Amino acid sequence: MRLGDERESGNFIDDTGRGGGLGFGGGGGGLGCLLPLIASRFGIGGVVVLLVGYFLLSSLGGLGGGGGGGIAPTSQQVGSTTGKSTLDPTSKHFTLQVLADTEDVWSKLLQPKGINYTPTQLVFYSESDQSGCGAAQSAMGPFYCPDDKRIYLDTEFFQELSQRFNAPGDFPEAYVIAHEVGHHVQDLMGTLGQAEQLQARASETEGNAIQVKIELQADCYAGVWAANAKTPEGQPIMEQGDIEEGMRAAEAIGDDTLQRETQGTVVPDSFTHGTSAQRMNALRTGYQSGSIDACKSL
Ligand SMILES: [Zn+2]
Repeated sequence: MRLGDERESGNFIDDTGRGGGLGFGGGGGGLGCLLPLIASRFGIGGVVVLLVGYFLLSSLGGLGGGGGGGIAPTSQQVGSTTGKSTLDPTSKHFTLQVLADTEDVWSKLLQPKGINYTPTQLVFYSESDQSGCGAAQSAMGPFYCPDDKRIYLDTEFFQELSQRFNAPGDFPEAYVIAHEVGHHVQDLMGTLGQAEQLQARASETEGNAIQVKIELQADCYAGVWAANAKTPEGQPIMEQGDIEEGMRAAEAIGDDTLQRETQGTVVPDSFTHGTSAQRMNALRTGYQSGSIDACKSL
């Protein structure tokens, strides 16, 4: 990616120096409404368990909010750092440059639709933290919480991307951030609210299918962002090979691939994020069209 002296976004909170956080069960709030990048995995005694996920989550809180319950989100000021930050300066700089670029692109793309883009805030944390949707844990991967309109990111996930998921490079990291920003765009456009209403009447399988559409659209939005992202000089920030790197990441985090790796079998009814092929296709569609309208809705 061509990222030079672009501005950094100030819409962040650095909670990495917080030390420990509450962890699970800290406030009894459950998982609430969060929207993760990948189907949630929690290590239990060394065994990685794939949670069937979303329907369970939605039954506790719903996509669009309400009832996340019990745990107050982090109350720090935007742009502030709690305690002694443990954040890698390079990851921080990169993440905030990408975030700033998403702010520029989405402000421009949403304006013709009559939507004033209010930026999301990105919370950096280490290991665990509290979100408006309940406890945040690194094992969950990055996620967006509609209740506090924040993205929660443990930048250790970037290492996991390159090592465990074998998707090294800068664009896979940007894709992760842009996917979560995509959920914020869905939130602003009312799509998350619609999904919540549909899910309230749906069976578990149907609820999962709605969730898959939401996730694929967020992948598509990540592609739309990438296609429109420019340096201050007006050059595309995407360079040769970047989208291929992203495709490798999208492939690695498809539900079928993850399920095959972690449980040995594939259960399509339990998919919450789409197959590897679907995720790659969604990212590609967004990137090739550069248009928000090319991203399938519910
Ligand atoms: Zn997602």
